[in-house]
Amino acid sequence: MPMDRKKFQLGDVVEMKKGHPCGTNAWKVIRMGMDIRMKCTGCGHSVLLPRTRFEKRLRKVLIPADPPVE
Ligand SMILES: [Zn+2]
Repeated sequence: MPMDRKKFQLGDVVEMKKGHPCGTNAWKVIRMGMDIRMKCTGCGHSVLLPRTRFEKRLRKVLIPADPPVE
């Protein structure tokens, strides 16, 4: 295995290294592509991040998408 890449997919709720200023650290992945759009589950604010930055900031998946999407 090359690098330990974190797995995430559309619809997952993820925890980032830094939470949102509103006090919530749970983000739902709402768009996947070159950029990842995630939405704060606390206040609904959405943020667009380049995938590489998203992956660096990602700590873990809190709630996997259900049902899983491939
Ligand atoms: Zn928020």
